[in-house]
Amino acid sequence: MNQPRILIIEDEAPIRRFLTIALGAGGFEVLEAERGRKGIELAAVLAPDAVLLDLGLPDIDGKAVIASIREWSQVPILVLSVRDGEAEKIAALDAGADDYVTKPFATGELLARLRAALRKRPIGTIEKAELTFGTLEINLATRFVRADGREAKLTRKEFDVLALLARHSGRLVGHRQLLTTVWGTAHAEDTHYLRVAIGHIREKLGDDAADPRFIITEPGVGYRLLGE
Ligand code: CA
Repeated sequence: MNQPRILIIEDEAPIRRFLTIALGAGGFEVLEAERGRKGIELAAVLAPDAVLLDLGLPDIDGKAVIASIREWSQVPILVLSVRDGEAEKIAALDAGADDYVTKPFATGELLARLRAALRKRPIGTIEKAELTFGTLEINLATRFVRADGREAKLTRKEFDVLALLARHSGRLVGHRQLLTTVWGTAHAEDTHYLRVAIGHIREKLGDDAADPRFIITEPGVGYRLLGE
């Protein structure tokens, strides 16, 4: 038995119960905390493989929980967020969260996000150069991209954006992370650069923003490459 162990930090009992059942059925071992401080303690003592964190907790702010855990651990943290809470999601990502799921949850999506988060590779891991996502092929070494059997000629920046999404496939990559990695810290707020680049990438890959096969827009927050 080698079930990934998930720590749920959530004060609402019905949501905790729902998550416990859904994760249990999905093959995860579940730990629960009702409060932030208790959650931090359990994260430290029981070393979960991932954390599901509600931001609105009765004792301390969820972002403080993230900051505290990040002082010693790179465990994947998924934030449980309310719909339309873009500012809150961005603040949580800046504090060190990896992804978020919006309430009410679809169980399948939640489990997929968790599995993607658990694939988070430790720093220094050697990467495979050739990545495949359905009919999208990306070679990180030769910077060659092919979609549906056809070469896609991306500019340098466009390739860098796609490569970053590919290295985090299935996981959310925030605007700030994309902008600072590809354009530099001076451009952390220039989301229009990103919007234009993503538009060009989609066009070259034959992807459709309204019915995406490869790149999903997370409105106001970032992008996600559909994982396999
Ligand atoms: Ca709450």
